[in-house]
Amino acid sequence: MDGSFRYVVVGAGFFGAVMARRIAEELGEPVLIVERRSHIGGNSHSDIDSATGIEVHRYGTHLFHTSNKAVWTFVNRFSDFNNYRHRVFTRHRGQVYTMPINLQTINAFFGTDLSPGEARDFIARQVAEGAVATPANLEEKAVSLIGRPLYEAFIRGYTAKQWETDPSHLPPDIITRLPVRFSRNDFYFGDLYEGLPLDGYGTLFARLLDHPHIAVKLGCDFFALRPELPAGTTVIYTGPIDRYFDYRCGRLGWRTLDFETEALPVDDYQGASVMNYADTDVRYTRIHEFKHLHPERDHEGRTVIMREYSRFAGGGDEPYYPINTLADRRIYDDYRALADGEKQVIFGGRLGSYRYLDMHQAIAAAFKAFERLAERHRSG
Ligand code: FAD
Ligand code: UDP
Repeated sequence: MDGSFRYVVVGAGFFGAVMARRIAEELGEPVLIVERRSHIGGNSHSDIDSATGIEVHRYGTHLFHTSNKAVWTFVNRFSDFNNYRHRVFTRHRGQVYTMPINLQTINAFFGTDLSPGEARDFIARQVAEGAVATPANLEEKAVSLIGRPLYEAFIRGYTAKQWETDPSHLPPDIITRLPVRFSRNDFYFGDLYEGLPLDGYGTLFARLLDHPHIAVKLGCDFFALRPELPAGTTVIYTGPIDRYFDYRCGRLGWRTLDFETEALPVDDYQGASVMNYADTDVRYTRIHEFKHLHPERDHEGRTVIMREYSRFAGGGDEPYYPINTLADRRIYDDYRALADGEKQVIFGGRLGSYRYLDMHQAIAAAFKAFERLAERHRSG
């Protein structure tokens, strides 16, 4: 590697790409991005399916939503966004319901016509029958929020498939990501800004990295390059933190996903972009149908669907969701202490910080890391 880069970014996902852009643009420094995969964009990558012309999110549907104005303004520099607002449906015993659980889900499931206030009282009675004082696991937490019948129908099977772990052995906080509403609001997110890049994530990333001070090396593993790094290079590392330290404190637990993609000669397969499968007799957790993310595009007579399966990650698998058991937290704390000693390395992103981050959170975290870096740069 030549010595013209004082900054090397490992990983071309949102965290690394945003850091690279701001270093190039605001510090005026040349940046080299090394990316192990054959494409930029990290897990938010999308490209066009050659047979149908439909944009496919290769790592599952990625919905952009945020209430952070600085993040929204930043991404809008690189693509306009459409006005798609996400809704999710879930299939249970041959019926389709709206998710997250809301007044329509409750009335459809119990065959009732309750008003918002009546539904609140009705669910409160079910909660009172099954709830424990201090919920200590996902099952107890879910029952304390929605009562046992709704938990059994919509949460237990899906969660067991998603985590391959009995919900009574999972931490309670996973389920608090999912709101429960007593109104007819069935939007999945409640953020101020939401939409999909009109030109696609692939183009958004190409523009984000299109800067004279940025060079990108694809298909390149950082660890192959590391011995050649000139002294004084600052590294922004967004790969797995345990790999950086050669797993010396142990391996962090991850879940991985398998995706099965299929192009079909039909106009519309399921009528929505995501259909969850709540029952355990179906092995996949959900089916994505990408054309619904872009109603402004015309793809008559064809569609692409993707079935998603979840399992524990082995050595060679892509890590997607941190499992975050207590043992994982302890291992991570050890790595964090080692990371604090690496003065020339910034650890970031979901793999580098062992945290589930949505895209807007990864961007906001990169903004923070950049501000600290810029401060250091300015003070020489
Ligand atoms: P990544 O995108 O994972 O990028 C890290 C990059 O580093 C990867 O490309 C990897 O190949 C590279 N790398 C790792 N090690 C090395 C190495 N040694 N050398 C070179 N390169 C290396 N967020 C949302 O906001 N909305 C959604 O709807 C949403 N849906 C999601 C669905 C799924 C199934 C998953 C798994 C995530 C979803 N996310 C969603 C989260 C989103 O993917 C992350 O916020 C985003 O990917 C974080 O970016 P990152 O840069 O931290 O990591
Ligand atoms: N969940 C569920 N049923 C659903 C959707 C979600 O039981 O139909 C649970 C499941 O445990 C999941 C959690 O709620 O891990 C958080 O849901 P989210 O949609 O955030 O899951 P993700 O997209 O992260 O898989």
